[in-house]
Amino acid sequence: MLMIPGPTPVPEKVLLAMAKHPIGHRSGDFSKIIAELTANLKWLHQTQNDVLMLTASGTGAMEAGIINFLSPGDRVLVGNNGKFGERWGKVSKAFGLVVEEITAEWGKALDPEEFRAKLTADTEKTIKAVILTHSETSTGVLNDLAAINQAVKEHGEALIIVDAVTSLGAVSIPIDELGLDVVGSGSQKGYMIPPGLAFVSVSAKAWKAYESAKCPRFYLDLKKYKKATDEDSSPFTPPINLMYGLQAALQMMQAEGLENIFARHQRHTEATRAAMKALGLPLFAPDNAASPAITAVAPLTVDAEQIRSTMRKKFDVALAGGQDHLKGKIFRIGHLGFVCDRDILSCVGALESTLQSLGYSDVQPGAGIAAAAKVFAN
Ligand SMILES: *Cc1c(COP(=O)(O)O)cnc(C)c1O
Repeated sequence: MLMIPGPTPVPEKVLLAMAKHPIGHRSGDFSKIIAELTANLKWLHQTQNDVLMLTASGTGAMEAGIINFLSPGDRVLVGNNGKFGERWGKVSKAFGLVVEEITAEWGKALDPEEFRAKLTADTEKTIKAVILTHSETSTGVLNDLAAINQAVKEHGEALIIVDAVTSLGAVSIPIDELGLDVVGSGSQKGYMIPPGLAFVSVSAKAWKAYESAKCPRFYLDLKKYKKATDEDSSPFTPPINLMYGLQAALQMMQAEGLENIFARHQRHTEATRAAMKALGLPLFAPDNAASPAITAVAPLTVDAEQIRSTMRKKFDVALAGGQDHLKGKIFRIGHLGFVCDRDILSCVGALESTLQSLGYSDVQPGAGIAAAAKVFAN
């Protein structure tokens, strides 16, 4: 039972859809699939912008989203309050961008006012982009995308480039309403399909920036993908079977409806957090900045890695650990994508037993389950 923030569980419908011979990617039949996928991806992204599919993991989508619209020497503001924010700074530097980081302690949200201060002071309009991780998977923190975006819009010139890898399909991101320029995501997260496909949405303003952007690129040159997508095609051989899976997954999402999907993630977040509080386990992210995809927990007296290994051995539940300095300090419960209420109850129950077997004396057997069950009863 995968309760990690990616790869996430895959429905049987999707697995079966992939269990077929690939067809030719230049065939009329495949064009029809691309046309359907593109229309449904726009629905999921709540946008009329281009949504392009790449054969890559989420990092590929973000790298493409950065290098297609910027030039070496360009000044960019990068939000860094965890492993992924840190990564976008590294990618930017690798391509010669001049990076200014806005940081927050791991486990805290980025302060939109710090973005606003930098952007307001930039009267010469030298800041070309703001790069931001929406749901910081390494800590379970959801950054305030709307507020930071507001500051970017007041600046007027800078693009906003968003890592939505663990927020797209979990919480509403109205791309057109907010005017988000570039939004990257990956198949093994909210999409309910295995790893290997990445997605990037691109606004008209970003395409304008593309015209003068000079970062080197070839395989990730997004104009190639746009040109092909406009003709219901792909520039290179795409992962055909994953796209069968995506077709099934997007149909499932449409049957459930966006509002229901977001409500389910919200409910799972609330139930998980309520259960941890009832068990006396400190949450790593504050209530007002809780990721809809992942809950990070910082147990006080038991090593988080011990909890993970017991959960794995006794209950076959895979939880994620802490990264870097948080290894052993936190464990993370993924509730992203194909997860139902019953999965949360099973996970909390397994965790209660695990804590008891590890001698975690504060735990009150049943308290976590009761708290989660109460959320589901409402
Ligand atoms: C998983 C993830 C990514 C992408 O990682 P890949 O391993 O390249 O798919 C990017 N950002 C966040 C926030 C993620 O959770």
